[in-house]
Amino acid sequence: RAKASSEQVVIYDPAMDEVSRARSLMAVELRAALELGQLEVHFQAQSDIPTRDLVGFEALARWRHPERGMIPPSDFIPIAEATGLIRELGVWVLNAACREAVSWAEPLRVAVNVAPQQLAQPDFAETVLDALLVTGLEPSRLELEVTEASLISDKRRAEEVMASVKAAGVRIAMDDYGTGYASLSTLQTFPFDKIKIDQSFIKPLGRDRQAAAIVRSTLILGEALGIPVLAEGVETETQLAFLDRARCREAQGYLFGKPCGAAETAERVREQWAR
Ligand code: C2E
Ligand code: CA
Ligand code: CA
Ligand code: CA
Repeated sequence: RAKASSEQVVIYDPAMDEVSRARSLMAVELRAALELGQLEVHFQAQSDIPTRDLVGFEALARWRHPERGMIPPSDFIPIAEATGLIRELGVWVLNAACREAVSWAEPLRVAVNVAPQQLAQPDFAETVLDALLVTGLEPSRLELEVTEASLISDKRRAEEVMASVKAAGVRIAMDDYGTGYASLSTLQTFPFDKIKIDQSFIKPLGRDRQAAAIVRSTLILGEALGIPVLAEGVETETQLAFLDRARCREAQGYLFGKPCGAAETAERVREQWAR
């Protein structure tokens, strides 16, 4: 027994140290990356299902590391959140996304992810209105994607902030719908402009009756509430056909395009809008 516990100390301690050392090193690097211009915003198409027309793009952060190449947000957003750097990073992404969207054809929207800590900032609404003012983007062309987690810690503050940006004409989408603990009650508390069904329900469509039932009932719910629904992670024509039959309004996923850089996105806008 004594041996086992001393072994545990030997096995776990250095490993934990290494993980936390790597994390704090990354936090320092991430802060520098923001200043050095190593962060980029990529954009992924969102399309109307019946017509397949482009309706907008979701802005997704990327870190172009000089040695390690492109680092995905799943590797650095959690660190940004743990260190509070997400507030600065979030403001940067918001401004960069709005600046890019101004150059696209008029009705196209840009959707920007908002972390829980950003919504908890008393001046978040001001930050959003500033970004619109500075870039000249029409408020109705900006959509903020918030998750249920944003509404858990300080629900009243978050709702106040969302209400004031919404009053200015900015749209609010509920992201990752269905993955939280209280998706239904979250929908009850705030008038969202869009529901994004999480990709975990879309992926198994066509081979999983449960997923199909959940997606169908979400679409009925959206219709009853008068909130359009977007399906995330659409990769196949089979999934798209199911969604079309079930009268889902919009889709986003590799079938319509992977996220790509600003120049390529602008090119795609020009091509599709010239048709
Ligand atoms: P999310 O908001 O749910 O974004 C959708 C993610 O799904 C993106 O991953 C996108 O590339 C991926 N995706 C889209 N279509 C498909 C598909 O058909 N198949 C598969 N397998 N994946 C698909 P990404 O870009 O790696 O971002 C991961 C997460 O990081 C995002 O999930 C979001 O939660 C977070 N994130 C990204 N950028 C930001 C940001 O600027 N701010 C904040 N707070 N979070 C961000
Ligand atoms: Ca999102
Ligand atoms: Ca999502
Ligand atoms: Ca997600």
